[in-house]
Amino acid sequence: MTHYIWKNGNIELFHEAKTHVMTHALHYGSGVFEGIRAYELSNGTTAILGLKEHVSRLFDSANTIALNIPFSREEIEHAILHTVEINSFKSCYIRPLAYYGHPLTSGIRMIPAEDTPTDVIIACYPLGSYLPEGDVHVKISDMIRLHPQSTNVSAKICGHYVTCLQAMLQLKGTKYSEAILLDYEGNVAEGSSDNIFIVKDNIIVTPECGSILRGITRNIVITLLKDLGLQVIEKKIKPSELFDADEIFLTGTAVEIRGVTTIDDKIIGNMNRETTEGITQLVKNAYMRVCNGTDLNYRNLLTIIN
Ligand code: PMP
Repeated sequence: MTHYIWKNGNIELFHEAKTHVMTHALHYGSGVFEGIRAYELSNGTTAILGLKEHVSRLFDSANTIALNIPFSREEIEHAILHTVEINSFKSCYIRPLAYYGHPLTSGIRMIPAEDTPTDVIIACYPLGSYLPEGDVHVKISDMIRLHPQSTNVSAKICGHYVTCLQAMLQLKGTKYSEAILLDYEGNVAEGSSDNIFIVKDNIIVTPECGSILRGITRNIVITLLKDLGLQVIEKKIKPSELFDADEIFLTGTAVEIRGVTTIDDKIIGNMNRETTEGITQLVKNAYMRVCNGTDLNYRNLLTIIN
């Protein structure tokens, strides 16, 4: 149970942390956020994965909409650690959000209105497996990923997520648990909440940057794969390559690493059963060793909560 929310430097009780109905971001999606995980390590302490990277992306995202976060990166990092600590979670999901707050004095033309303050909140809550347990069925969406000339696609801006929401709404009530969005040129972009990787003949390919969110898990996974001596190629990927893949897996902070069983009902090469072999399982194990601190080579990705 979440007890406390950090808001603008203060700690508020969960049910008292409110915002005004005229909040700018509520009307225009003018906020930026992060999704971060804290893990319980094998020695019982709690650590945050990729804290610096997430906070850095939060500030970069904020810059793209001229949103001034009135705290330093170090202050936000410290606030994140503090929020997890006071909620006494051993492991949890963490949601920092910075947004144009109240008052909404005028239309979108006024952005960034000088008197529009930035509100910053940090929440955290328990989160188990983001995708359902068992087989993962995905579907290529007819919603396309945002055009790079419509926005800064590598920023994690609140308004971007309406496209993801619409893609997921189309799957409501079906067996599909994730939508794969193509980009404006018809190449594979990413899932609604994750990046995508394909394995073919022991070579791993993933969409190049340009129309995707530069996932922090994606970066970690690329490093892990390369350190395992595997070849990773970032390139444009046609949907036909998905159907021809030996393995497909999704990566993201919430999702972690999950193999895809079927795409548009086609069973992916070697993914039709829980397999203990294959590159997906290999990288999944390697990733979990990073998260629980047993792989000392990547200990620098963890920030321990004292
Ligand atoms: N793409 C989208 C659209 C996402 O929302 C996420 C989750 N943040 C990802 C990719 C994966 O990013 P990360 O690994 O940084 O969580």
